[in-house]
Amino acid sequence: MPKGVFQVPVPVNEPVRSYAVGTADRENLLNQYRAMYNQAPIDVPMYIGSELVRTSDKRTMSPPHDHKKVLGHFNWGTKQHVSQAIDAALAAKGRWSALAWEQRAAIFLRAADLLAGPYRMRMNAATMLAQSKNAFQAEIDAACELIDFLRFNVAFMQQIYRDQPGNQPGVWNRLEYRPLEGFVFAITPFNFTAIAANLPASAAMMGNTVVWKPSDTQVYSAHVIMELFREAGLPDGVINMITVEGKDAGDVIFSHPDFAGLHFTGSTGVFKHLWKEIGTNIEKYKTYPRIVGETGGKDFVIAHPSANPNEVATALTRGAFEFQGQKCSAASRGYIAKSLWPAVKERLIQDGATMKMGTPEDFGNFINAVIDKRAFDKIKGYIEYIKSQPDVEIITGGNCDDSVGYFVEPTIVVTTNPKFRTMCEEIFGPVLTLYVYDDAQWAETLHLINETSEYALTGAILSHDRYAIEQATRVLEGACGNLYINDKPTGAVVGQQPFGGARASGTNDKAGSYLNLLRWVSPRTIKETFVSPVDYRYPFLG
Ligand code: NAD
Repeated sequence: MPKGVFQVPVPVNEPVRSYAVGTADRENLLNQYRAMYNQAPIDVPMYIGSELVRTSDKRTMSPPHDHKKVLGHFNWGTKQHVSQAIDAALAAKGRWSALAWEQRAAIFLRAADLLAGPYRMRMNAATMLAQSKNAFQAEIDAACELIDFLRFNVAFMQQIYRDQPGNQPGVWNRLEYRPLEGFVFAITPFNFTAIAANLPASAAMMGNTVVWKPSDTQVYSAHVIMELFREAGLPDGVINMITVEGKDAGDVIFSHPDFAGLHFTGSTGVFKHLWKEIGTNIEKYKTYPRIVGETGGKDFVIAHPSANPNEVATALTRGAFEFQGQKCSAASRGYIAKSLWPAVKERLIQDGATMKMGTPEDFGNFINAVIDKRAFDKIKGYIEYIKSQPDVEIITGGNCDDSVGYFVEPTIVVTTNPKFRTMCEEIFGPVLTLYVYDDAQWAETLHLINETSEYALTGAILSHDRYAIEQATRVLEGACGNLYINDKPTGAVVGQQPFGGARASGTNDKAGSYLNLLRWVSPRTIKETFVSPVDYRYPFLG
């Protein structure tokens, strides 16, 4: 047990490396990418307890920008593997949850330092290959955000443990933050390596053991995450990674009496389905499961007449097209004041013409491929729909080509119908729809934004009029969980802008903050009376 009141290192955001021309980082990352691209195909196991599990059902891993290339295979499991992973998590639970918190902290701090050092290039290159991120997008996700999650969460863990109730003379009150009873199920999306690692890690950090199901299209970088955690000293069975059909995992896990929590990030439809499953099975559980889900978005940008057109255009293009628009926070609907529109439009068209698209191996490419054929077909379907409609015009992009990789041009659409389908639905690709409003309709447009979509994840206000900023902030209070003023609506930084949305965008438990970690503990209050009463009679009775 601890024999000191320890102070964890004060976290500082990991500096983002530039990978600029002539830097050693650029050379190292490129070499790492090429080495991994050219190595013999790898075989990624499932990690269940102390076992690396392989099956005869092999699934191919390929870069989205080069889909005929085989990077390796992963092993497809069955319901039996799900059961084994639950058993391994429960078997590891006793020792792990009894381990002193500073020992758990040390493992995750070591993981952060390994990632900042020897693992950095490998994690970034794996993310470039698996998810088709360019060097910068990989760096801010797989290196910096994940390092920040690990270091800041350790500090938030201590902040939670420190939060203690008051006392009165003769009584000492204490709060213990024990882990949940049972195991946690983490389900992660393809788009962020940092989220994939953080969902199982944050629950594990608080003393839980976890069954983790990564996305099928992220397994190549998920594998590096497991190697990192193992090298950092995470004991076997604390995080068990399985690659199975989501439904198979759900069928087994949601019927298990020891299921204690779901840590999910992904689409709204899947999350609603999982919530229903949990509700249907509620009688089976020993404890009410914690349900945390960060889901879809239809993120807005509104430009007031006082905004600078170049600032507006840059917030739109960076916000909408970085990582091919496959960020839950990506700008996907914009509302531009009519007086600004000619200048904004000109700049958008100019910028669109200079954006290069292709493999992340070529550092000149701003745009890479979308994740897989399913995503490509869905986005292409939206673009074809747009082309068939009378009240929309495509001003840049609009072409798709999947002959080598799943490439979709960054596409900007202008509509005269503010409720046009692509102003409301999440596309999750590089398609931005704009509506030009009359300057006099500023207040009405704010209400329109609030009522157009079921989502409420991120949004941005561009304005140099302080009254307008104040008004928009107030009217749009419920329209997003992360509001940006004079910035793009993406790029939340751990420890600075805790991230998450409400309405159909999630439970708003704010990844990368103490609020999220609180969901993975079950507090016990202990009241100790130093000198106990010896007579039931109160003075008033006399
Ligand atoms: P997705 O919903 O298709 O998949 C997410 C995960 O759920 C994957 O691991 C998938 O295999 C699994 N899954 C699917 N069906 C399942 C089932 N029936 N049972 C159990 N698991 C199941 O999402 P995606 O395409 O990987 O990611 C994109 C989505 O994630 C977008 O909607 C995006 O907005 C959202 N997202 C949200 C945030 C946020 O913080 N709000 C962050 C990243 C991504």
